Amino acid sequence: MRSSVPSLRLPCSAAATQVSVFDTDDKPHEQCGVFGIIGDPDAAQMCYLGLHALQHRGQEGAGIVSSDGSALHSVTGLGLVSEVFSDASKLAPLVGSAAIGHNRYSTSGAASALANVQPFVAGYRFGQLAVAHNGNLVNYRSLRHELESKGSIFSTTSDTEVILHLIATSAARPLIARIVEACESLSGAFSLVFLTADKLIAVRDPHGFRPLVMGRRPNGAVVFASETSALDLISAEYVREVNPGEVIAVDVNDMLIATSYLLTRKPRKSCVFEHIYFSSPNSIIFGHPVHASRYNFGAALARESPAPGADIVIPVPDSGLFAALGFAGASGVPFKQGLIRSHYVGRSFIAPNQEERDLAVKLKLAPVEGILAGKSVVVIDDSIVRGTTSSKIVRLIKNEGKAREVHMRIACPPIVGSCYYGVDTPRAEELISNRLGVNELRQEIGCDSLGFLSLESMKGAFGEGRHMLCDACFTRKYPVTAPEPLAAEVGDEAED
Ligand code: SF4
Repeated sequence: MRSSVPSLRLPCSAAATQVSVFDTDDKPHEQCGVFGIIGDPDAAQMCYLGLHALQHRGQEGAGIVSSDGSALHSVTGLGLVSEVFSDASKLAPLVGSAAIGHNRYSTSGAASALANVQPFVAGYRFGQLAVAHNGNLVNYRSLRHELESKGSIFSTTSDTEVILHLIATSAARPLIARIVEACESLSGAFSLVFLTADKLIAVRDPHGFRPLVMGRRPNGAVVFASETSALDLISAEYVREVNPGEVIAVDVNDMLIATSYLLTRKPRKSCVFEHIYFSSPNSIIFGHPVHASRYNFGAALARESPAPGADIVIPVPDSGLFAALGFAGASGVPFKQGLIRSHYVGRSFIAPNQEERDLAVKLKLAPVEGILAGKSVVVIDDSIVRGTTSSKIVRLIKNEGKAREVHMRIACPPIVGSCYYGVDTPRAEELISNRLGVNELRQEIGCDSLGFLSLESMKGAFGEGRHMLCDACFTRKYPVTAPEPLAAEVGDEAED
């Protein structure tokens, strides 16, 4: 083994077949949230809180790596942040004033899941390096093949491991130059935080697919996070986005911030689905408040696709809430909470027959008959992916809630493309809008009318920023073509 090959602390059992897993909520799933902090005596504690605020970006694993100035310390585990760090003793080993953390959304089996929980830590000839990654590399296979042909030995099938090998085998000096050189080789989506003994480094891909923001705590600590909601929880002030293609390094000794850019420049293409569904409504994503985007989507939907004679507007909770408020505000139709979501139900079981499958939805959503009975109801949902849940919701409102009419309105355009950039979506043939037109879909769902927000109106909500959004899952116009088969199609896991 060449001395430059990193030794990863990852078991060899990490290889796993990626299976597209969907809850009965029938939503695409974000793959991960990242967090980093430096210059704080309670770095690990702040990281823990930050990961709490990013829990919606991944619920199957969490981890924190800290630096005490000379060595890295790591704790990772399966489950929610509150389960992995279930008491103070779990945070106790994570000493030091710098830390990075990661929430993982897993699509692989439990046996391999722990090995893939980030941050990953590598030991190589210049010391230790940890990384946490949100996104997906579309050229992972060719990079790995090239590295393996030069002698690199991989411990996992994670695309994030490729990044560590590229850094370790780079001849550039110093570390920042190695990271820049490695990231120049990457294609696809990457919002990264790295930690060494004395530095915290944040990098965002040139398209800026996934979000990454910078903040500062009152004590001067510098913070990076996938969303501003993580800054809010630890009283950090939002400073700005990490710009697409930007590399920001902070040294623990003098807290100086050094900024540079990758040489590769690309048009900005930030994921519009962060505003439709993924991000927390109290976050500012790509410079826009998420709750305001969703409200505007709903208002535009009311203008484009009104429901004359409707008595009430209700959201599919929780993700349809702000769009329903927007629809109600623009249409004058009263907003009501006609469905109550249970927050105490985990992943629903897959039931064998129709009646039991409906029960799985009823476990999550309860109709309020006193609000719905006899009414013409507009139901606002954020999106339809495979269409497996919408018909159950309509039956629930009609049969259990005793509504007279159900008019479904969707606060985004029909989804017709899979995502290559860090979002777990089904294959194109599984997307119901690839198979059915709007009227056929209305019949399939069983609602009285169905309307989608147009692409123009959705993007119009961002003003001048509308040209800087990735909308490939609605248009199939991919900013980065995938030169290699999607990992899911060939049975490999291209990890987040
Ligand atoms: Fe987001 Fe869709 Fe683009 Fe993927 S394809 S980055 S989900 S807008």
